[in-house]
Amino acid sequence: MTKINSNLYKIENENSFQRVIKISNEYKKNNPNKNIIALSIGDVINPIPNKVINKMKKALSIQKHKRTFKGYGSSSGCDFLKEKILNNEYKKMNFSIDEIYIFDGTKSDIINILEMFEPKSKILLNDIMYPIYYNGTQCLNKRIYVSKLDEQLNFIPIMPKKHYDIIYLCSPNNPIGYALNKNQLTKWVNYAVKEKSIILYDNVYNTFIQDKNIPKSIYEIKGAKKVAIEFRSFSKSLSFSGIRCSYYIVPNEIYPDINKIWKERVINRFNGTNYITQVGAKEYYDNSVQKKVTKNMKYYLDNAKILKETFIKNNFMVWGGENSPYLWIKIKENITSWELFDLYLKKLNIIVTPGIIFGDSGNKYFRISSLANRGDILKAVERINKYYEKNN
Ligand code: PLP
Repeated sequence: MTKINSNLYKIENENSFQRVIKISNEYKKNNPNKNIIALSIGDVINPIPNKVINKMKKALSIQKHKRTFKGYGSSSGCDFLKEKILNNEYKKMNFSIDEIYIFDGTKSDIINILEMFEPKSKILLNDIMYPIYYNGTQCLNKRIYVSKLDEQLNFIPIMPKKHYDIIYLCSPNNPIGYALNKNQLTKWVNYAVKEKSIILYDNVYNTFIQDKNIPKSIYEIKGAKKVAIEFRSFSKSLSFSGIRCSYYIVPNEIYPDINKIWKERVINRFNGTNYITQVGAKEYYDNSVQKKVTKNMKYYLDNAKILKETFIKNNFMVWGGENSPYLWIKIKENITSWELFDLYLKKLNIIVTPGIIFGDSGNKYFRISSLANRGDILKAVERINKYYEKNN
């Protein structure tokens, strides 16, 4: 009998977002009169700008005429979008059009990229991380090494003493909410250059960066073009989480011919991101859309500020929220992160994310997302203040 990939059984479903959703939905169903506020899953709430929608409608309408109909496109993405991204995001870095790939989401990109490397490569992850890195690499039966993060060091990834081939870094970070500064990133780039390693740099929250001293791209660091692949997405910036569009850069400096080889792999595995989606993503660079994006980012970060101040006022230790939409909060009571989740759901009617979902070291913490309506944030603040007035 054909055997199923046994690694699939290793996917964590006990400590998962799916369990958060399942328990929350059951609670909502059994308590229809309760107003439940979701500050858990990191999905945006602001709609896609009208200008983008209109362009996408127009792009769809060409499909109804024989004269203008478009079938398969380029597997690695349309040149018009690649050029826009390179000119707007990477102007000073001089990447060529062969060094950028358009896909349908960083969640898949950041695991699929592992096909580029020797299957037995040693992969370094952090305990407290975006869980897809672990689950995705597990399914592929990779050699995974996990480094524990330290609260005393504000959970900043610790420089390894040994050699690793591939390093996953996420900045601005989900779930902890920090963004690596120039100095911290330089150390990682120098490590990778010295060790001839590759950094997979998950930069999907880059539009949340406010601090001028924080690099928006890893390629602002000298040497990064030799060692880093940077991943970005339109999910959070353009509210494309449901439309799906992402991109990444594979610098030619990584290996000779890398893009020639990788392009062949892409052609053999993918038939290209939806044309209509790419037309919409191109509109991201329109001036009026950019203004809207900036406004949306400020809206979410103002939410984060309101929440952060509330938790600090109630004597919590809180990380993040300045250059990222997430707050990482230490549990005050002597309870696990699932118990905290339960308490918030039942006593405060607020859904949060238990820290253990992001790794064992996360069990004393919980994550709050500021990607929510202001009205809900203010209601949540009222409930949190009221609860801790009684229970502090
Ligand atoms: N990387 C991180 C760190 C994320 O938090 C998310 C989504 O929440 C993703 C990647 C997935 O992005 P996409 O919607 O482009 O698949």
